[in-house]
Amino acid sequence: MQSRSAEERREDLVGLYREASACTRCPLSQGRTKVVFGNGSADADLMFVGEGPGHHEDLQGLPFVGRAGKLLDQLLEEIGLSRNEVFVTNVVMCRPPGNRDPQQDEIDACKPYLQRKIELIEPKVICTLGNFATKLLTRSQRGITGVHGRPQVHELGGRTVRVYPLYHPAAALRSTKTLEELRDDFRRLPELLEEPAPVPIGAVAPVAAAVAAEPEPPQVGLFE
Ligand code: URA
Repeated sequence: MQSRSAEERREDLVGLYREASACTRCPLSQGRTKVVFGNGSADADLMFVGEGPGHHEDLQGLPFVGRAGKLLDQLLEEIGLSRNEVFVTNVVMCRPPGNRDPQQDEIDACKPYLQRKIELIEPKVICTLGNFATKLLTRSQRGITGVHGRPQVHELGGRTVRVYPLYHPAAALRSTKTLEELRDDFRRLPELLEEPAPVPIGAVAPVAAAVAAEPEPPQVGLFE
């Protein structure tokens, strides 16, 4: 059950967006055009976390607006969902130069913002797109090839949440096989969203808990 009204969540998210817009916590801030905070519904049951903004995202200040974003839109449509029903964000909010991988210090600097977004939105399911988001939110070094399509349960943003690792749409644009696997994994999402909330990790028997959790490890109008 969500503890705050949709309106309260939206207001807090706008506050966080304002703070993030002026962020200088890491050197990526120096090269960005716009901070890509994320967009969609502040009341979303489903959240997507990608890697980081690319060229188009940096210019527009919006996540997943390029080719990978179009594929994300299409996959959502195939399961009867639209972008404004979900929330989409990234591990880092500013574009790494030349689209290089985000570095650990940049990921660490942005992590409190991601945590706060998860806390405020209270999603039921978080889809991690690709290796960076998956490793960060599952607190594991296991790569996406081995874990995609298999839901996990984690404590995130003060709640027990299902994390569903998926291939990154950009990888699916490069390989038909990856695209088919991503599509298959997407098809299981509606069912996953219907499942009852996972039992808090501390409340289950120790053996089950060990299985459930990996070892320790001017956009204000954006939000529906
Ligand atoms: N790839 C990402 O990981 N995030 C975006 O926002 C766009 C492309």
